[in-house]
This record gives sequence, structure tokens and C-alpha cells, in this order.
Amino acid sequence: MTDPSCCPDGYGPATLAVHGGHHRTAFQETAEGLFLTSGFVYDRAAQAEAAFAEEIDRYTYSRYTNPTVTTFEERLALVEGAEDCYATASGMAAVFAAVASLVRAGCRVVAARELFGSSLVLLSETLAGWGVRTDFVDGTDLGQWAAALATPADVVFLETPSNPALDVLDLRAIAGLAHAAGARVVVDNVFATPVLQRPLALGADVVVYSATKHIDGQGRVMGGAVLGRRAFVRGPLQDFLRTTGPTLAPFNAWVLAKGLETMALRVRAQSAAALELAAWLEQQPGVAAVRYPFLPSHPQHDLARAQMSAGGTIVTLTLASAAGPDDDPADDVARTFAFIDALRLVAIANNLGDTKSMVTHPATTTHRRVPPDLRWRQGIRPTTVRLSVGLEDVVDLRADLDAALGAFRGAPAGSRQPATP
Ligand SMILES: *Cc1c(COP(=O)(O)O)cnc(C)c1O
Repeated sequence: MTDPSCCPDGYGPATLAVHGGHHRTAFQETAEGLFLTSGFVYDRAAQAEAAFAEEIDRYTYSRYTNPTVTTFEERLALVEGAEDCYATASGMAAVFAAVASLVRAGCRVVAARELFGSSLVLLSETLAGWGVRTDFVDGTDLGQWAAALATPADVVFLETPSNPALDVLDLRAIAGLAHAAGARVVVDNVFATPVLQRPLALGADVVVYSATKHIDGQGRVMGGAVLGRRAFVRGPLQDFLRTTGPTLAPFNAWVLAKGLETMALRVRAQSAAALELAAWLEQQPGVAAVRYPFLPSHPQHDLARAQMSAGGTIVTLTLASAAGPDDDPADDVARTFAFIDALRLVAIANNLGDTKSMVTHPATTTHRRVPPDLRWRQGIRPTTVRLSVGLEDVVDLRADLDAALGAFRGAPAGSRQPATP
């Protein structure tokens, strides 16, 4: 439904992010219109009949389509370089719809173990209960992918870089193995964003987003999106979403369409700050390990440089453990909490990709439902902290982290305080 007069071929991604999908009304407004309406009226009964028979293409009901949602979908499709896009109420609605519209009972999914917590639960519990089996592999081990995909599969699901360990998975190689096994490849591209990584160009069939993260990027609304070929998006995916109903609200679509206008600027600036902080953190006493795709110490550094144009906005650090093998890991948690609680500028929040820097402790929050052994294999330790780098002055962020590291080094083992209400 993209209006070719609005965005002819040949415009660059920044132009498309600002103008894509903008269809002015008769009022000739400068900003995108916000159509806060659930429904639309017909001139005559026969017109409603023709709309429901899909003989005419028009808006009928906002669970199906809404002009503001269309603007967001068209803009994101142009930014991603995808044929089409379907917006959803949240990122998890996008993940669920993308996978569920490709499987039925008896189907088989092969997925990386390094997944967003809810995606892991969706595959290993919800869909498993409906007769869709998922086999998990270590995402960075191509041998495990090849072994799992030696038998036919219907869907391959992965995210790269992964949350929170920032493992980088080889999209081109995994897509090749997946297609040979008859599977469609669904990539959660939330951490990289379309600014830094284009999975469809590397062989993926479907890309999913939590628009709540970098697309909004300012902590305001929930949203999600699924992108891919038109035959899929306007076929099985649309059938699934129209029936199950996780519709993106027009107001949220408007916020997200405006978010896309500045996303590239924000993501590039936040990534540059993240790289600077990651390199600095790596030198600090008390820091055992820093994970950042564009640091030379990252195990998949060359791959990250080949498939991403910057390392992203997230840095994951693991503080030095004071616990011996017989000590209670709660002591390490307590000392890590002392670091987190000493931060003054960086907020404790489980969102990411925001202009405001945020820190979270995956083991006790986002990944607490993940079984401990799997958590360990995902690289999550009691002292692991995920830092989402915002748009503040880097010097201020460094000073805040420096002071908090001082608090961490000074915290006695076994000092866990009860949570205050
Ligand atoms: C946040 C997130 C999701 C889920 O998105 P919501 O908008 O919270 O539903 C999925 N995948 C990744 C990698 C995320 O960070």
C-alpha cells in the first residue's frame, strides 16, 4: 500500500525514515495524521458489502487496519528493505504471530538457546503444549545447527546479538542450513535494529521487532512488528493476526512512526557511546569480563564486524566473583546489587534501547524463569549486569559507573540487604 509518489525508489534510508508511509490528508498537515478511530463509515450498504468481499481496498475496522498503523508499517518496511510489514501490540505478539502462523501441531522448530526470556518460554512451554516441538542448539556452534537441521524442520528461530550475553550468530550460514532442511528463518533483530543489521539480506525470511525498544527509544509505548515477503505478511500472518487480535493502537503507531525518524541517529550515537564505555569498563578493576560485539575480545568479533555496521547499544559486563565454590551465590548477587544500587544516573529498569541509560540484573529479573543450568549456558552469572547505553554525555555515564564500581569493590561478601518496599 506504499504510495509510490511519496517515496520513489532510490531514496536513502534516512529519507525513507522521515517521509516513508506519509500520506497527507486534504488538510495538508506537515506531521503524520493520528487517526484515533476504531471504525470507518460507508456511504452505502453495498459499499460495506464490497469492502467485506475485498472487492474494494479501504479501511473497515482498526483491528484490521488503520491509516496511522499503515504509516508505521510502510515506513518500517522501507527502512528494513522488506516487502511488507504487519504491526502488533507488543514485541511478544510479533514473535508469537511470526512463529505460530508458520506452524501447526506436529511441526518442528529449531531455535538458539540464547533467547529473550519470554521467547524461550513461548517455544519450550506454550507451543510445546500445542504439539509444536522445539529443539534448542547453542547458537554460536554451527556444528550443532548442522546436526539439528540434518532432519527436516519448519521454522528456525534466533536472535543476534542475543540477550543478554550478546552472542553473535552467523545469519548467512544458519539460513543456508535452515533452507536446506525446509525451514523458514525467523530472526528477532531487536538488539541490532535495522540501522545496524539487515537479516533479510543475509538470508532470513522473517524479521521480528519489539518496537518498544529502539524504534520508540524513549520509553513511551509498547509495539511490535513482523516483516518479510508480502505473500507471507498479507497471507498466513495477516489471517492469524486479524483473527487473534493483538492490534497496534493508532496512538502507539503514531509515536513509533515518529520514533523511526530519529532512530538511526539515536542508535548510531548510543552505539558509539557503548563501544567507548565497553572499552573503558574492560580496563577497570572488579570487572571480570565485558561482552560487546565490536570489542576485539568478543569471541565472534570478526563475524560481528561482517554482519553489523556497529556493535549496538547494549554492553553486558560480569563483575568479579568473590564466591569460592562452596560459597553462597547470594553473596555475589548482594555485591552486584551494591554496584547497581550505587548508580545515580543510570536507572534500574528492564527496558533497553532507550535514550536514558538503564541497567538490569538478568539472573533475578528478565531471565529468572529460565532454569539455572540453561541460564549458566547463556552466559548469565550472579554478577552479570546488562547495561543499555543512552544518549547522555559519555563522561557522565563513565563517572557514574566508576563510582558504582567503587561501591562494588568495597561491598563485603554476604551483605545482602532485604528489599525495601
Ligand atoms: C523486549 C524484547 C522482546 C519482547 O518485546 P515486548 O515489546 O516487550 O513484548 C522480544 N525480543 C527481544 C530481544 C526483546 O528485547
